[in-house]
Amino acid sequence: MKIRVYQLAKELGVPSKQLVEELKKLGVDIVSYQSTVDEETADLLRELLKAEPLQVAESGKESKVESTEEETVTAEAGKSEKELAPKRPPVVTVMGHVDHGKTTLLDAIRRTRVAEREVGGITQSIGASVVNYKGQKIVFIDTPGHEAFTEMRARGAMVTDIVVLVVAADEGVMPQTIEALNHAKAAGVAIIVALNKMDRPGANPDRVMNQLAAMGLIPESWGGDTIYVPVSAIKGEGIEDLLEAIILIADLLDLRGDPEAPLKAYVIESRLDKGKGPLATVVVREGTLRVGDFVVVGTTYGKIRAMFDDKGDPISSAGPSMPAEIMGIQDVPEAGTLVQRVDSLEEAERIAKSNSDLQRDKQQKTRKEFSLEEILSSS
Ligand code: GDP
Ligand code: MG
Repeated sequence: MKIRVYQLAKELGVPSKQLVEELKKLGVDIVSYQSTVDEETADLLRELLKAEPLQVAESGKESKVESTEEETVTAEAGKSEKELAPKRPPVVTVMGHVDHGKTTLLDAIRRTRVAEREVGGITQSIGASVVNYKGQKIVFIDTPGHEAFTEMRARGAMVTDIVVLVVAADEGVMPQTIEALNHAKAAGVAIIVALNKMDRPGANPDRVMNQLAAMGLIPESWGGDTIYVPVSAIKGEGIEDLLEAIILIADLLDLRGDPEAPLKAYVIESRLDKGKGPLATVVVREGTLRVGDFVVVGTTYGKIRAMFDDKGDPISSAGPSMPAEIMGIQDVPEAGTLVQRVDSLEEAERIAKSNSDLQRDKQQKTRKEFSLEEILSSS
């Protein structure tokens, strides 16, 4: 049985990027972390990565780090299904060139959910939505309206498992398609291509596949590993195929998250509400976030007074992969900020304050460097 590189990387507890390098060193012909290797090669790598720490042990310095890693790997590998953390839903970010149909696609996906719930109308977005597809949850991070790429990166990067790369089949690969692809590759996340606007007379999916294949995304139909799904977001066609593909990749990734682990959540969006005060939408990576928790959110903090799900309904907790809008923090945090739980409000305040002191010092330092640069360049 063949295994994808990122899957093997996960199993071995090494970054996909490193594994790609190792494979290339071994002369294995692979394109990216999405490529597959055969069982034999996989076994070879398992052996190699087990043997390596012993080799570096003699050379001293790095041995400590390496051997702890080795212990974790062995411990993980020895775990039975029962001991592993429970599965968690995939977190998906839709990316692509402006006007290629990201928003329309997300709307089409959400409509399937609304239909399922038999609710009239779509509630206000909190920056993420949970879609229930055949009993399985998929979490979608909304694409910001103003298309600021850096913001999208800050919002989704920490929590995204899968990127759906939207390419209009009539227009083909554009600069932001390449930018999105590069970011997804750098983040080491899995990529699914949605060939959108298939209803358009000028749609040419083969051309898009050729363009993207040249960048390492070889279609499965050509013997590669990338799933391409033809869709028409506007007509709602191909949406189920896309959701199927997401579920398939999510299964391959074997995503897990321990609801009992220390809390690790990230802010993906925040706003100031006239009545409710500062609100932040967070996505939980590990652990469980609960109403009543004392949290540090970067330079701000608070006690969570209320939490809302993506439909705006109040909830009391959110586990791995789940988004929640939280109320009760003092200030509006930046997207990308880590949310941590502490034991008391006093502790939360103290840590938040030291975080803001640190941030101020850093800003002052960069400002100083800046002015020094300016002085040098102007002289
Ligand atoms: P975004 O900038 O990537 O979010 O793109 P939008 O979702 O705003 O779509 C840009 C334009 O393309 C809008 O006018 C949409 O109606 C149109 N559009 C999106 N998907 C499709 C599609 O599948 N077929 C056609 N014909 N038009 C589409
Ligand atoms: Mg849009």
